[in-house]
Amino acid sequence: MKNITVIGSGTMGNGIAHVFAQYGYEVSLVDISAEALQKALQTIDKNLSRQVAKGSLSEADQAATLARITTYTNIEEAAPKADLIVEAATENIELKKKIFVQLDSLAPAHTILATNTSSISITQIAAVTKRPDKVIGMHFMNPVPVMKLVEVINGYATSAETTETILALSKNISKVPTAVNDYPGFVANRILLPMINEAIYALYEGVGGVSEIDTVMKLGMAHPMGPLQLADFIGLDVCLYILRVMHEGLGNPKYAPCPLLVNMVEAGHKGVKSGIGFYEYQAGNKELVVAPRFR
Ligand code: NAD
Repeated sequence: MKNITVIGSGTMGNGIAHVFAQYGYEVSLVDISAEALQKALQTIDKNLSRQVAKGSLSEADQAATLARITTYTNIEEAAPKADLIVEAATENIELKKKIFVQLDSLAPAHTILATNTSSISITQIAAVTKRPDKVIGMHFMNPVPVMKLVEVINGYATSAETTETILALSKNISKVPTAVNDYPGFVANRILLPMINEAIYALYEGVGGVSEIDTVMKLGMAHPMGPLQLADFIGLDVCLYILRVMHEGLGNPKYAPCPLLVNMVEAGHKGVKSGIGFYEYQAGNKELVVAPRFR
């Protein structure tokens, strides 16, 4: 593998490009927005500087990493050079299907097409291509340069050879890959989201307040972040979307999203990204401040 093409340069795409470039791969970073690409390069540079300050990377390696990343605003130019494509565009099934049809027609026959989707079926995405054996899930965790896990998801038609290649590649970039199968939520979200949903139910039913629920899970279970703070960090709209995928796909009422979560998303209280969720995020807040609704 020489060239890795990353589609989408948002939160996840810039992290994925950063890690591959740091480990010596030539990276093509593609986004429909030139502004997003510009911002991604700044974020990568800032995150590399942090590694230099900690002593885990040299200044020369920082410059070399950046030099290995080329940006593109059109897929047509980047995809024909790729040995692996990791798609990390916006979470929308129609958009991902459209991108995979395009990638399948543009990329060389040997190219593996991976998606970083959190919740969309790998099997469904693979079915729009003529190479379903070479389509796989490569689910990185946020923030990508820091988090060790890559959940490698086998679609129904993914070949053993594709899985082996992606497991080995993930190890080459110092990640710990775990192979799982393609069912709604995969493993990470199948277990995480019901916990978050249950925490929201505990708040909704008055079992505990926001701080109390998060404190129990932080200090009692040694979680680095409480489930409500984590939900704010992930984005409450994203949490709701994934729960709905699991509820519909698995048909079990235990995955039904808590009505409080639905109301919050409808009111635009989406967590960190909107400035308010279970907590309030204002510039200058040094400590976590519970949102007025829950005080
Ligand atoms: P984001 O909104 O930060 O970035 C998405 C980027 O995709 C944007 O810059 C957008 O301009 C670009 N884009 C949209 N359509 C495109 C197209 N046709 N071609 C190229 N670029 C296009 O989103 P994100 O949080 O980085 O999420 C990306 C993917 O990663 C999603 O599938 C999401 O489910 C998954 N994911 C997210 C997280 C997370 O914590 N944010 C964690 C794991 C997986």
